[in-house]
Amino acid sequence: MTLDRRSFIKVLGGASGLALAGCATQGGSGAAAPAPAIGKTQEILPKGSARRVVVVGGGYGGAIAAKYVRMLDKSIEVVMVERNRQFISCPFSNFYIAGITKDMNSITIGYDKLAANHGVKMVYAEVTLIDPAAKKVITTEGTLAYDRLIVSPGIDFRSEEIEGYDAKAQEAFPHAWKAGHQSTLLRNQLQAMKDGGTVIISMPLTPYRCPPGPYERSCLIAGYLKKHKPKSKLILLDANPDVVSKKPLFTKAWTTYYKDNFQYVGGKKVTQVNVAGKSVSIEGIEDFKGDVFNVIPPQRAADIAVKSGLVGEDKRWCPVDVVSFESRRHKDVHVIGDAAIAGAMPKSGYSANSQAKVCAINVVNLMNGKPTVDISGINVCYSAVSEHESVSIAAVYTVKDGAIIAVPNSGGISPADFSLTKAEHAYGESWLRNILTEMST
Ligand SMILES: Cc1cc2nc3c(=O)[nH]c(=O)nc-3n(C[C@H](O)[C@H](O)[C@H](O)COP(=O)(O)OP(=O)(O)OC[C@H]3O[C@@H](n4cnc5c(N)ncnc54)[C@H](O)[C@@H]3O)c2cc1C
Repeated sequence: MTLDRRSFIKVLGGASGLALAGCATQGGSGAAAPAPAIGKTQEILPKGSARRVVVVGGGYGGAIAAKYVRMLDKSIEVVMVERNRQFISCPFSNFYIAGITKDMNSITIGYDKLAANHGVKMVYAEVTLIDPAAKKVITTEGTLAYDRLIVSPGIDFRSEEIEGYDAKAQEAFPHAWKAGHQSTLLRNQLQAMKDGGTVIISMPLTPYRCPPGPYERSCLIAGYLKKHKPKSKLILLDANPDVVSKKPLFTKAWTTYYKDNFQYVGGKKVTQVNVAGKSVSIEGIEDFKGDVFNVIPPQRAADIAVKSGLVGEDKRWCPVDVVSFESRRHKDVHVIGDAAIAGAMPKSGYSANSQAKVCAINVVNLMNGKPTVDISGINVCYSAVSEHESVSIAAVYTVKDGAIIAVPNSGGISPADFSLTKAEHAYGESWLRNILTEMST
């Protein structure tokens, strides 16, 4: 990368909302290139002779992919584009929603150290389109050329499948399925609710981000109600016919800890919300009334993946090569994390982290003319069943016959007698600290 000092200062000074970091670690050519004018169609960082990987999204997948490409080959320039200056983790956001943690500090990270320690160049902007033919991403701050692109933008919602669930309704009946403002809305509503009220959580059919997440949320909110609003109750409306993750463990928690204030109902797909009437409708045949609603809508790959033609025929998720995570739609573009179709791997932060490392290795190998390596993926998902107790599910993944499968007998779920729940709670907290530290340093 030959971003000369004059261009760098101009970029830093000239673009509101745009920040670059990590450039100081790059070797400049010394040649004085003309300073780029900043505009939506102008290049943000003109690409020099160095090979460049651009990463879209600085979450569980993107931050790790950016870091590992740099760790594996310092001659490759890495630019990461992220819309937010801070990343707020969904994992452990349920503790905040249920009033157990007082703020979101422990689940919030920035990117300064990633930039300073690894020379990842940060661009804070919204990516509005990927142009695979021109090998460019278009952002709200200008364009960026790439040799290879890694896309890890997470999910967006198929809100159109729930009548009335528009932007305004999402403020009244928050989904809290992206952490931050939405988590605060739900937390505040729970705290403002009168004792004796009814909380309703609705969850979509699979696949969606974090299979056990809604069940964990139900346990923590039921625990909050039991402690602070004992006359209140919680109903979980599951669009799936039955519990899709860690069933024996969640069922045990519901029937022992929360038997007086919790009800699970399977096979109830919410198709309409009525904010004024404080109810949700199940396919027009049954209404559930309540005081606080947490509507988790059906999901798909994030908007940028859909707009850029990375999704498959279902228009929802991105088909990828299971070894390199290269898109089956566009050459030299790789998709990881929740947005990708990754066979048996669940849509989790742990999976995204694991895929990011395999993808980074293969991107670097491909750029250096070396053979790709198969995934050895891992996922462990801790879920709280109460304030101080957690359970887990774990598996190792491999590629077999062109598909990512779970290695037989490589994992499992926690013991049904809850003998490890306190220890697993500590392991879960430690996992969160480690993974967020790995993403941000
Ligand atoms: C309540 C809850 C609890 C969870 N608990 C766990 C858990 O305990 N363990 C676990 O492993 N997983 C858990 N998950 C799942 C986990 O959060 C996701 O699987 C993970 O975040 C996926 O990583 P990702 O990189 O695909 O997306 P994300 O982490 O969401 O990152 C996407 C990033 O891309 C950025 N972005 C998107 N589009 C653009 C654009 N156009 N321009 C610029 N930037 C863009 C976003 O701002 C975001 O920072 C949980 C999820 C929820 C909702």
